[in-house]
Amino acid sequence: MSKRDYYEVLGVERGASQDDIKKAYRKLARKYHPDANKEDPQAADKFKEIAEAAAVLGDPERRAQYDRFGHAGPEGQGFNFEDIFRGGFSGFGDIFEMFFGARQPQYGPQRGPDLRYDLRLAFREAVFGAEREVRIPRTETCERCDGSGAAPGTHPRTCPLCRGQGQVSVSQQTPFGRFVQTRPCERCRGAGRIVETPCPECRGAGQVRQMRSLKVKVPAGVDDDFRLRLVGEGEAGVRGGPPGDLYVYIHADADEFYEREGHQIHCELPISFVQAALGDEVEVPTLDGPTTIRIPEGTQTGTAFRLRGRGVPHLNGAGRGDQLVRVRVITPTRLNDKQKGILLEFGREAGGKLHAEEKGFFKKIKDAFM
Ligand SMILES: [Zn+2]
Ligand SMILES: [Zn+2]
Repeated sequence: MSKRDYYEVLGVERGASQDDIKKAYRKLARKYHPDANKEDPQAADKFKEIAEAAAVLGDPERRAQYDRFGHAGPEGQGFNFEDIFRGGFSGFGDIFEMFFGARQPQYGPQRGPDLRYDLRLAFREAVFGAEREVRIPRTETCERCDGSGAAPGTHPRTCPLCRGQGQVSVSQQTPFGRFVQTRPCERCRGAGRIVETPCPECRGAGQVRQMRSLKVKVPAGVDDDFRLRLVGEGEAGVRGGPPGDLYVYIHADADEFYEREGHQIHCELPISFVQAALGDEVEVPTLDGPTTIRIPEGTQTGTAFRLRGRGVPHLNGAGRGDQLVRVRVITPTRLNDKQKGILLEFGREAGGKLHAEEKGFFKKIKDAFM
């Protein structure tokens, strides 16, 4: 049996807003509601088609799936009126609520929400790890009543309406068959228990807002955008549910001298043209303090030297990356007459020529001019 396109069923454009869909549904549902069309045997089917289309298009998640996969739905499981209305419904008001928002309140234990904290670290703290104390405002289980919400010395009473289940089932005969609807107990609002004398600390909520100081141990080797998860340090759970987690987002500052690339760090080292030409031992800063490197005779600007194991530690503790030192040959400025004289003499001695190994390079430039 082929199904009609949901947009067609509701008579709306593919790009219709949720509001338009809601309006279209409301109009059609009123027209085809089985209660208003007792003589028309087709009305029930028509209404079912409208309700299914609205249930899919009225829910942004289902709508996106429908737009992508059509009637087949993701993984071919499709959309099905009976599945969508598994919870059953009772009349027009409820069915409408079920489509458009107003998700039914949940009952039973519920896990607390996760929290996010943004932690800014200095360059070196991110490299070598750090221990920080952070202050997190969060909801915690009330210690005074241990989360029960009942004043000390008293106990919450089991709800007589749902007998502690937090939910009630209502069986209903509808034009489409018999549905059993389960909904949260109205008397205890899904808690299953009724607090008669509320705890003075939390006023019966079982939870309190608290500013909590936590020690955060940041491991060595984290980088910008690293996310640290502290299990159970989020908001308190509800009705005995576990707490959520705390996610600490790391923001590492840049450094003026070092540039980080994963586990490697780069730096630039200025040397004089004399050091570059004759070679020298030069001191280089590293994250562990100064060290010396040997610049060989005839070093060109841009040459990089690798210092093994002087980079950023690996997160799993297995060794460190390298530091790459790129030398930059500085052309001298503000020379005095004597220095100029020496350089002129050097120029005459060199005959204005470059050394053999550069000839190829300068030939390329000459060729480029032609
Ligand atoms: Zn309390
Ligand atoms: Zn109840």
